[in-house]
Amino acid sequence: MKINAYAALEPNGKLEPYSYELGELGSEQVDIKVSYCGVCHSDLSMINNDWGMTQYPIVPGHEIVGEIVAAGEAVKNVKIGDKVGLGWFSASCMSCQECMGGEHHLCASNESTIVGRHGGFADYVRGHWSWAIPLPQAIDLSKAGPLLCGGITVFNPIILSGVKPTDKVGVIGIGGLGHMAVKFLKHWGCEVIAFSSNPNKKDEILGMGATKVINSREPEELESIAGSLNFILNTTNVSLDWDSYLTTLAPKGKLHTVGAVLEPMAIPAFSLIGGEKSVGGSPLGSPALNKTMLEFCVRHNIYPTVEEFPMENINEALEHLEEGKARFRIVLKN
Ligand SMILES: [Zn+2]
Ligand SMILES: [Zn+2]
Repeated sequence: MKINAYAALEPNGKLEPYSYELGELGSEQVDIKVSYCGVCHSDLSMINNDWGMTQYPIVPGHEIVGEIVAAGEAVKNVKIGDKVGLGWFSASCMSCQECMGGEHHLCASNESTIVGRHGGFADYVRGHWSWAIPLPQAIDLSKAGPLLCGGITVFNPIILSGVKPTDKVGVIGIGGLGHMAVKFLKHWGCEVIAFSSNPNKKDEILGMGATKVINSREPEELESIAGSLNFILNTTNVSLDWDSYLTTLAPKGKLHTVGAVLEPMAIPAFSLIGGEKSVGGSPLGSPALNKTMLEFCVRHNIYPTVEEFPMENINEALEHLEEGKARFRIVLKN
């Protein structure tokens, strides 16, 4: 099977049309005809080899929505003709402690859709059936892609941290991930404070359900909510003054990061000890939680705010993202 895709051939390279042969379909694998694919910041990080694990040529794209066109004889749960999503992960071992516990996203031998194999900026993509997440019938396919990576990344911490509807929460960075977090937490029932340093986004952020937008560059604005938040989710990948965010937490509050901050985070022990506060992180979420999230989205009509580009305008879309202009997530259409 010949796949027509877009690949970067070197670090920071533009994407170019690139075709490759997919070998024989494995007994537990499915082939998905790509209808839409979201553009995630991790695609840029991988194209640029920011994490030192990119193999070139790389076909990025891991927020895939499409239809199953081929299925191996041992495939379960999905079948040819099903509409499915495929996110950051494309296979798990299915036998380790984590997989057996339903936490496939923590499997040490996970395969990632764009690491050492080719992703969804293509006409077809392959994956293990466990990560081909069946999409609810009523879902808007044109906006569902970003839920499979960005969405589950910010949905999992809400479950993991036991966020309650009565909680007052904060979201740092209102971009691709953060704007979905604001929408989820609003529908969860929480009072949501958004931390953003871009005043131009303020009205849109309030429209998404935040009760207040705090300019994180103004120390006195942070001080005005000192000791009040039960949970803060960081979605940025830059070093911030973490201690000043810890002071906005109520006792027992938690600062949780899903943003891959590359520098060590400076967390003074005394800022945690006095109020029994904690700091944590998490990667994506399990296949079962993906399904739960998608049903929650359909029930409450929660979708990312997206800008659509034709797949062939991929370089224009990546530039738009890199320049920080995306409002708020980009989706490519095949
Ligand atoms: Zn991603
Ligand atoms: Zn496993």
